[in-house]
Amino acid sequence: MKRVFSSFNLQIVHHAKNLLAAEGIRAVVKNEILSSAMGELPPAECQAELWVLNERDAARAEAVLSRKETADPGWTCGCGEVLGGQFTQCWSCGAYRP
Ligand SMILES: [Zn+2]
Repeated sequence: MKRVFSSFNLQIVHHAKNLLAAEGIRAVVKNEILSSAMGELPPAECQAELWVLNERDAARAEAVLSRKETADPGWTCGCGEVLGGQFTQCWSCGAYRP
């Protein structure tokens, strides 16, 4: 087991876990309960943490997470369709990305 990510925001940690799952990397969230005990424990010990089950996945996991953080967040077409950053054209109305 190796820690690859931590945050006070539990939702972000779960999001990171999902990103890893999409890459086939198994991970678990630790300190999920502690993060709700903020104010009673030293903050540094209250961060939710993401651990990969297999240490061999750690480097890849960190690469995935750093890539996602800087990834194109996508765009919203004039027709209201929300598209991923990899698309340059709306699949709904055919408009090109502004
Ligand atoms: Zn559109």
